[in-house]
Amino acid sequence: MYYNIVLSKKGMDISYIINELGEERERYFSAVAPPIIQTSNFASSTVEDLRQKMLHEPEATLYTRGNNPTVTMLEIKIAALEGAEHAIAFGSGMAAVSAAVLSQVRAGDHVVSVKKPYSWTNALMRQFLPRFGVEVSMVDGTLADQYRQAIRPNTKVLYLESPNSYTFELQDIEAVVAIAKEYGLITIIDNSFASPINQNPLAMGVDMVLHSATKYIGGHSDTMGGIVCGSREMINRTFASEFMTLGAVLSPHDAWLLLRGLRTLPVRMARVAETTRHVVAWLERHAKVERVLFPFLPSHPQYELAQKQLRNNTGQFSILLKTDDIQKVELFCNSLQHFLMAASWGGHESLIFPIAASYASGKLKPTLPFNLVRFYVGLEDADYLIRDIEQALDKI
Ligand code: PLP
Repeated sequence: MYYNIVLSKKGMDISYIINELGEERERYFSAVAPPIIQTSNFASSTVEDLRQKMLHEPEATLYTRGNNPTVTMLEIKIAALEGAEHAIAFGSGMAAVSAAVLSQVRAGDHVVSVKKPYSWTNALMRQFLPRFGVEVSMVDGTLADQYRQAIRPNTKVLYLESPNSYTFELQDIEAVVAIAKEYGLITIIDNSFASPINQNPLAMGVDMVLHSATKYIGGHSDTMGGIVCGSREMINRTFASEFMTLGAVLSPHDAWLLLRGLRTLPVRMARVAETTRHVVAWLERHAKVERVLFPFLPSHPQYELAQKQLRNNTGQFSILLKTDDIQKVELFCNSLQHFLMAASWGGHESLIFPIAASYASGKLKPTLPFNLVRFYVGLEDADYLIRDIEQALDKI
């Protein structure tokens, strides 16, 4: 018998998806927590059994660089949260980004990508794809028509990341999808910033949605993962090619940690959203803050679009400090006591990432102003975080 992956059905209750879907407790002693099936391999009882597994490999438990029941459980749940037919999990978000894009292009093709995606996605677009004969154009993306203008006869993919890294500009997902459909192109979106709780681009017509599960899905800064969601046909094709050949597999143990993170995802997202709104409102009024980059502020030029395509805000925003002195920016950042200075985001802990760190080094090529500090608000109390920011601002 091959292991038949339960297909997700649209419109399921989030509580059901997170707590019950894909869990077959009677198969593992009615344990409440799922087992970590820590195996590389699965035995077959007969030649016919093995034959069937080989014939149906995208659904079969044949080998863990393929399917593993603990990983499958995660895939089922994320697919359902995104309203997708199917999903495939990877060892990191970048593995998911790369596999999704590579699955849709070949030498001679052209991709139109949003201009400021996550830095390694940027490297994929600007350096990696061109090495294999795939051309890439980057567009600002705040106007959907910029995508249309960049389309060439060999364009295959429109790539989105909305909101995008550091400055949180949005792309109008439905408008970009409409353009893609007009020209018969595939749309792929990195939905990590919104999480599957706050934005479901497949419902807006996007073809492939991916996440760095390292962020909100994991939620504890202790594991890495990535996931691509889409139609069963697209995911199975990706399985048979990019997934199996590049082999960037998610380990069963990491899948288990991501499943554990997923249990509290809606609660964490609600808490993070509320705390962030308080912190942002406080910062917006502060005399030493030039601007807060956060699309959920009514003063933001994309506020209406944010309201339309996102269910709620998340925990990321950036500030521009009102200073032309990099030393003051550094003093502010170094003075924060309850924000860790680190890359990434989506965990329990609040973080800052100062662009100033990209300055004054021959190797780094900053494209953003040095007074920009990206914040991620975690699960701490709003007042606790605001007091910390206040004392750091008082120093500059
Ligand atoms: N997409 C976005 C928006 C990210 O911020 C990141 C990482 O920071 C990634 C993708 C890559 O994910 P990972 O670090 O899990 O490979």
